Amino acid sequence: MGRHAIITGGSSGIGRYLVSAFASAGYNVAFTHVDQSAAADEVIGEAGASGGHVRAFSSDVGDGEAVSRLMDEASDWFGDAPDVLVNNAGIQTWSPLLDLSEERWDAVIRTNLKGCFLNTREAGKRMVAAGKGGSIINIGSGCNKHAFPGLVDYTASKGGVEQFTKVAAVELGPHGIRVNCVAPGAIETERTLAEAQDYGETWGRVTPLRRVGTPADIAGPVLFLAGEQAGFITGQTLWVDGGVFTQA
Ligand code: NDP
Repeated sequence: MGRHAIITGGSSGIGRYLVSAFASAGYNVAFTHVDQSAAADEVIGEAGASGGHVRAFSSDVGDGEAVSRLMDEASDWFGDAPDVLVNNAGIQTWSPLLDLSEERWDAVIRTNLKGCFLNTREAGKRMVAAGKGGSIINIGSGCNKHAFPGLVDYTASKGGVEQFTKVAAVELGPHGIRVNCVAPGAIETERTLAEAQDYGETWGRVTPLRRVGTPADIAGPVLFLAGEQAGFITGQTLWVDGGVFTQA
């Protein structure tokens, strides 16, 4: 019994924190990674310490068959359809438009946008069949409000996620399924720190709240949107950026 959440991309960064936060909030959590079994074991250990029921699944978000299999296996493990899906898995690197390869463009759109579609479709089918409603939260990006040179593929994919959210919300609303988007600003994770060691200081200086964001800053709004308190909110994008893109 209890509530069941599927979180894509739970082996690092924001997703890793989300797994623990949902487990601490009493959810049974199925999370995905691509090929990170060691990291996945660590995540299970962290979340298990808080008493949560957590299981890892190797599942590429851009592979329709793998996503369908994930939804079946996670539902079997839950003993029920999922109540919550968080489309968190995403990739991002920098490249000027004129140097951007077709392969890179395809990989970013496949993971960030097609992955959101496939997981929403497959979780949505199972939520509709179970007839108990649900909540889907897509992780977008604050970059949608801005035009960062070097992020044309990523920005296009996350712009797509924001628009996808609206249409999915309208189509799934009659089934009691809410679909929303959380758009983070600059969040300090291993990945962003690897981009620049002074990532936190740099963004802290230009952010109105005078600090960089943390995965915990994202987990709170995602948990809120997953739960009953957000029961009349759908089709929305919540900007979680310390105000940095509001002033842009
Ligand atoms: P990380 O790189 O730390 O984590 C990404 C996660 O996605 C990993 O668990 C990774 O799994 C998984 N993943 C990547 N490709 C696939 C795939 N094809 N199938 C399944 N899982 C996959 O990223 P962040 O935590 O920084 O970002 C998380 C989300 O937040 C992303 O959608 C990102 O775009 C968004 N975001 C992040 C911001 C930030 O400042 N950090 C700002 C705005 C948005 P594996 O380890 O197995 O590869």
